[in-house]
Amino acid sequence: MKKYPLEELRPDLLDRLKRILENDRLGHAYLFSGDFASFEMAIFLTQAIFCQEKAGALPCGQCRNCRLIAQQVRELVKDFSQSGFESNKQVFIIRDAEKMHPNAANSLLKAMEEPQSDIHIFLLTNQEEAVLPTIKSRAQLVLFPKNTHFLEQKLEEEGLLKNQARLVAQVAGNVEQALLLAQNKAFIDSLTQSRKLVDSLYQSQNQAYLQVGKLVALASEKSEQERLFDVLTIILAEQLEEKVARHYLDGLLLARKMWRSNVSFQNSLEHWILAA
Ligand SMILES: [Zn+2]
Repeated sequence: MKKYPLEELRPDLLDRLKRILENDRLGHAYLFSGDFASFEMAIFLTQAIFCQEKAGALPCGQCRNCRLIAQQVRELVKDFSQSGFESNKQVFIIRDAEKMHPNAANSLLKAMEEPQSDIHIFLLTNQEEAVLPTIKSRAQLVLFPKNTHFLEQKLEEEGLLKNQARLVAQVAGNVEQALLLAQNKAFIDSLTQSRKLVDSLYQSQNQAYLQVGKLVALASEKSEQERLFDVLTIILAEQLEEKVARHYLDGLLLARKMWRSNVSFQNSLEHWILAA
């Protein structure tokens, strides 16, 4: 999978954190909320801490330490102090921080507060509300919301039409997911069929029934069906100035609830159309 530089993924936050590095004000514990390039940012900052050839305060990305860090990024919890670095500094990158055991979290935070320690912790989460309050209160929060504009651009470069790119960018959580979806022909077809279904709602019930059949044929997996509920919701939400769209949206919500309680995808959608 193609890798994109932080300059493209997160130009706003990169500027902010570069300034923090240049002013030598990097904190010891950060909570990165949202997964859009938060991991890449943690790697960048870790390189800044260990780099041997820094340009000012910024990592070179090329020296042995920078390369080692970039290579060792696959594991869930990474303690860079045990990776052959000659340094008394320690950096921990912890993904899914909301799943961290309280004991582990406490000992880490305690170690951080030892007077001699030089520890940096980057806690990454996609569910900020589930992170332990003891962690939250001691870490600086940085938000990593989805960069929809970037996603749309990349998707158009991949050959999607503007309105397809807009939908995929809203449905996908990150770049990898967006690019995978862009290559998924059945999914791209289902975007067109979803639009047709919504259009037909305004016109004729019979046509809408036919459209449901076409859509259902393109999504046999639960995860695919869930995504199509998202797609339909987004399409209707674009038309919210139409009063009837709001009514359709309410109906869709109900259909989704039915589907969640194990009514089939087809029956849920048909129920929606019947009530529309
Ligand atoms: Zn370096």
